[in-house]
Amino acid sequence: MDNTLSNKETAVNSNVITSFGKTFYYFESFQTLKIEGLEKYDAIIIDAKDLEFAKIIIKKIRSHSDPEFYLKPVYLINNKASQDPYIKQLSDGIIVSFDQLSEIINDINLINSRIARIEISPSSSFEIQVIKKTLNYLFTRDVNKLIPLTEVNSSIGYCYPVISVNFDVFEEIKALELLEWAEKENLIWPDFQDRVYLCSNCKGGHLSFREICPKCDSANIISEDLIHHFPCGYIGPISDFRNKVDTALSCSKCSKSLRHIGVDYDKPSVINHCQNCNQVFQDYLVKAKCFQCKTDTDVQFLVSKNINVYKLTKKGRNAAIGGIYTSDYALNNEIEGTINFKTFSVMMHYEQERMKSNPALTSNLFVIYFDNIFDLYRIIKKSKERSLLTEIVTIIRNDISTADFICINNPSVLSICLNDIPIENAKLTAATIIEKIQLLVKNNFDRFDLHSAFEISSLSKEQTFDKQIQTIIKELTEKQ
Ligand SMILES: [Zn+2]
Ligand SMILES: [Zn+2]
Ligand SMILES: [Zn+2]
Repeated sequence: MDNTLSNKETAVNSNVITSFGKTFYYFESFQTLKIEGLEKYDAIIIDAKDLEFAKIIIKKIRSHSDPEFYLKPVYLINNKASQDPYIKQLSDGIIVSFDQLSEIINDINLINSRIARIEISPSSSFEIQVIKKTLNYLFTRDVNKLIPLTEVNSSIGYCYPVISVNFDVFEEIKALELLEWAEKENLIWPDFQDRVYLCSNCKGGHLSFREICPKCDSANIISEDLIHHFPCGYIGPISDFRNKVDTALSCSKCSKSLRHIGVDYDKPSVINHCQNCNQVFQDYLVKAKCFQCKTDTDVQFLVSKNINVYKLTKKGRNAAIGGIYTSDYALNNEIEGTINFKTFSVMMHYEQERMKSNPALTSNLFVIYFDNIFDLYRIIKKSKERSLLTEIVTIIRNDISTADFICINNPSVLSICLNDIPIENAKLTAATIIEKIQLLVKNNFDRFDLHSAFEISSLSKEQTFDKQIQTIIKELTEKQ
């Protein structure tokens, strides 16, 4: 590297730069990749002359499982890199020369002070670890959004660099599924951006769409306009009306020349002719062949996935410093007297239908959010979490009718459907239930003050249930 550094504060020794009391490790593009030992430096500078090299190094750092590596401040020293949004999302900035090191010292201090605040404890599964890493990274960089990028190497065509870096490109769907899980846990909120269609077999997104023959599945078909000649009534493909000399059309049945479309003839539709099996048909099928596993699927059976911009919720922001708390990645901890969200959603849909057919019927949606229940889960034994939730469900059951139903959305959100009572009564019931739950926790867990927020609303007849509950939970978890 060149040693023409004007700044007296900066000293260079091989690839180690000391500046304003900080040590930087400088990666040059022709250097062999070795990231071991990097934890002792305050920040890393990558020469991004060779973008591919810079990408490999930054991926290696950000995909590491140790926070000493993956949270390390990383700067690029080549402004060409700013053109690449992938690298941009994974780096902390760009400098044009080493003289600018003084300008990033504050930045590094800020990142380090935030790193000191995050909770670091082993996660119960790889999936939770990846989400926790992502939340840690966003928190230490004061970033609130996960923005998808189109990525030609990704198996689904999109990637979220901060989370995707933990997966191979052909496993990109796993990043998407993880985000869906985090959304369900209310750690992030989705804003729709795009939709992708994926292979139903391998969830790959590199598909070839073809119009095919309904008889033999061949894509070797040709389409022609169909012509209806009014004077003689003949209907046939346009090729029957053509001649070899000019573009004039004449009828093969009555030999008359065709004059004006709409006057003496018409083009009622299109006809397809299979070159493979000779079948003539009007409607072709559309199939999508997967380049990854070669499965050929009817487009109606493709898997569609939303590509969202994800925003951190308050719960998500807190999870970086407080830890992610969840019973299980699969959340297969059904408590007696409750139903899972999928069933709940279906039943609420039936409630809506029931209300539509009989206006006298009412249904109320009661959603509870326990803001600090994770603090409680952390101090009690793992075996007691389930019994606590069971106790809470028992309390709720005592105050509602047997026909009402309860759903544990996730360990901090519960939804209850209260049928056929006026909303004022439902509000009273809700207040009583909350009071009893808080008392239960206070008496059994060392005077622990459980913070809860709740919302009672009439079940909407216009909005879909999923939309309604999503709005309620968003308001509850973002409040305070
Ligand atoms: Zn055919
Ligand atoms: Zn004719
Ligand atoms: Zn496939």
